[in-house]
Amino acid sequence: MALIVHKYGGTSMGSTERIRNVAKRVAKWARAGHQLVVVPSAMSGETNRLLGLAKELSPAKLTDAVHRELDMLAATGEQVSSALLAIALQAEGLESVSYAGWQVPIRTDSAFTKARIASIDDQKIRVDLDAGKIVIVTGFQGVDEDGHITTLGRGGSDTSAVAVAAAMKAAECLIYTDVDGVYTTDPRVVPEARRLKTVSFEEMLEMASMGSKVLQIRSVEFAGKYRVPLRVLSSFTPWDIDLAEEAQSGTLITFEDDEQMESAVVSGIAFNRDEAKISILGVPDKPGIAYNILGAVADANIEVDVIIQNIARDGKTDFSFTVHRNDYARTLDLLKAKVLPALGTDRIEGDPRICKVSIVGIGMRSHVGIASKMFRSLSEEGINIQMISTSEIKTSVVIDEKYMELAVRALHRAFDLDQPPA
Ligand code: ADP
Ligand code: ASP
Ligand code: MG
Repeated sequence: MALIVHKYGGTSMGSTERIRNVAKRVAKWARAGHQLVVVPSAMSGETNRLLGLAKELSPAKLTDAVHRELDMLAATGEQVSSALLAIALQAEGLESVSYAGWQVPIRTDSAFTKARIASIDDQKIRVDLDAGKIVIVTGFQGVDEDGHITTLGRGGSDTSAVAVAAAMKAAECLIYTDVDGVYTTDPRVVPEARRLKTVSFEEMLEMASMGSKVLQIRSVEFAGKYRVPLRVLSSFTPWDIDLAEEAQSGTLITFEDDEQMESAVVSGIAFNRDEAKISILGVPDKPGIAYNILGAVADANIEVDVIIQNIARDGKTDFSFTVHRNDYARTLDLLKAKVLPALGTDRIEGDPRICKVSIVGIGMRSHVGIASKMFRSLSEEGINIQMISTSEIKTSVVIDEKYMELAVRALHRAFDLDQPPA
């Protein structure tokens, strides 16, 4: 008997019929003798629907007070799906109880709409498990020190599940979703994408941070920090497939370089359309310029991603960086008002129609020529690279958004990702 955490995403919880299927699957695991904590997302489309309603009524400036209410609102989606799942389990003849984040409690900081989990009290859950109940805990939400409901950022139910698994020292955290594992790239964009049987934790972290939304990045961080065995698998297989087979399906996130690991140099391709580029032209080439520009941006709590500064000519240089698209207008306004006058230039350009495409693989550590292969493949497609950034196990390029799918497909081919590794 083991303590196992299951997480079901929005599509998996998308209708009463699907919730019934989830209940049958969970019941199968419980009847096999396991203790189960289940973390559901809101029914698909629900979080968007709720936030859409808020948008119709919101003031132009989203203050902290508005963000508080957004969390109050969005958290209801998971409360609904959790209660429905508990009811469906009871209909299966199993004892089950659901809790909202604040009831557990899952404690977070007070950063509304992007809160971080600080701690989880496992006491209540343990008492219920010991009494033979299946415990349902809402994904995506928690409660801050002052009792305000918080949410963990879009896709945050993954993080709730892994954090619960870490707190409970669960034997495994199974992330059930609408694909049957982690693929070499989003299978919706590249139909030839191949499922990975295993992916290393570091690669998963880079893929998630570079835009693969199959797992929220913080869930991967948690899994790494607390060594939570994590598997991504399909909720769309028949619920009554053999449990042992189900338990080995999907993609396992591994923590060691063991021999199971696939040995491709590049394991996956991630992409992200959420960024925008800003360039300031003709800034003086002298100490403190990067600080003047990016310090002001950081002070406004805006995250910067890729940065480049060109070589100076005649004492002047150009400075470019990317920010999240939601912060684009605000960053431009801020720079125009506060930074440009001090730099003695009024030349600023922006482009919100960019995307970032990244190749990821731990094999890149020990192989040379991988980045150049990437650049060659993009040049053969006539795709202009605007910015480049690298880490030990990834290379990212910023390109025009309209070439995103072309680039991802070309790179997928160039690195033979549609072929099983030798
Ligand atoms: P859930 O609602 O279950 O949390 P998400 O929509 O958040 O599901 O994540 C699953 C989706 O992630 C898939 O449907 C797929 O389109 C997308 N995705 C992006 N990159 C990958 C990848 N490398 N492997 C698998 N799925 C990916
Ligand atoms: N329901 C939330 C969202 O749509 C959290 C999640 O699904 O993981 O972002
Ligand atoms: Mg998700």
